[in-house]
Amino acid sequence: MKRAATARLRPAALVHNLGIARRAAPRSRVMAVIKAEAYGHGLLRVADALAPHTDGFAVSCLEEAFALRNAGHALPLLALQGFRDGHELVHAARQGIAVAVHDPVQLRLLETTPLPRPVRVWLKLDSGMGRLGFPAEDAFVRLRALQNCANVATSPVLMTHLACADEPGRAENAAQLARFEAATRDLPGERSLANSAAILGLPRAHGDWNRPGILLYGASPMADGDARRHGLQPVMTLQAPLVAVHDLAPGDAVGYGATFRCRRPTRVGVVAIGYADGYPRHVPSGVPVCLPQGRAPLIGRVSMDLITIDLTDLPGAAVGDPVTLWGEGLPVEEVARAAETISYDLLCAVAGRVRVEEVAGNAH
Ligand SMILES: *Cc1c(COP(=O)(O)O)cnc(C)c1O
Repeated sequence: MKRAATARLRPAALVHNLGIARRAAPRSRVMAVIKAEAYGHGLLRVADALAPHTDGFAVSCLEEAFALRNAGHALPLLALQGFRDGHELVHAARQGIAVAVHDPVQLRLLETTPLPRPVRVWLKLDSGMGRLGFPAEDAFVRLRALQNCANVATSPVLMTHLACADEPGRAENAAQLARFEAATRDLPGERSLANSAAILGLPRAHGDWNRPGILLYGASPMADGDARRHGLQPVMTLQAPLVAVHDLAPGDAVGYGATFRCRRPTRVGVVAIGYADGYPRHVPSGVPVCLPQGRAPLIGRVSMDLITIDLTDLPGAAVGDPVTLWGEGLPVEEVARAAETISYDLLCAVAGRVRVEEVAGNAH
């Protein structure tokens, strides 16, 4: 039996949010990023909803790309971490999956592995993020090596990733863009630079292909963001029922470690969700949840299967009421900030035992 905790998913919101990415960057094609089970929303469910609207899908690893091909998806697919060995490379080529190439070992495999047909390559250049990619200045040499390789199809896409796009005003963005532009100025091939934040905040980073992830799911990609300001709609609303209500007196404690003590006569609500469902354990008292009657603060520690909230100011709340942890009525980035993390972390952590329900239509 599945838990009472439920992730209500609205596929129409995915389509709406993808439209926002298109309007923000009308000259770019969209490689929708659905890695990590589509940020916790379910790989195939999200792929099915977006397939008629996107130009391709990006995933982290080839396993995810194979799952999409097996499910019948024929769109361009990109494995952002490329291939780890010749075996993976052969299968990527056979199934027509583009691979990111970011280090010399992969180049050597491309040159030495017999392939059933050429594979599409995205050349990953490090313009300042310091994670994956060849130094941007090596773009010419690496591109020439790929062009001379019979296993590589057409002209590789030149790709880089921005470290600070969620704060568009930071100097690192201009520095990365300048470095990438200088290193690739005279080179052929399509370009891809923009994640969600750059799509909304850095028009100069718009390329032939953009790579929106988090915005598709309706969370703001900006560090100080507000999804509604960008017109984004939450795709996931995480809910659980109120399973108990009781009254405590001043001085009474709530939850493990007795970290919370009532300062007033307090009506405590108990909600059937906990850290084993993916609700973050390390949130402080005061993080909001949302009931039909209004918002209430979390009090005490998060348990494995339960949380406790202060219902004193919501006298109408009753056992059985749905409690929203994030989503419609309570933006996930607001909860993330209170939890000292980011929306990506909360969405990806939703556990497999949480029930999933699809909701039709757009949010009101
Ligand atoms: C995850 C990822 C993205 C998407 O990032 P968002 O911030 O979710 O839009 C884009 N490009 C690369 C290389 C990524 O790893």
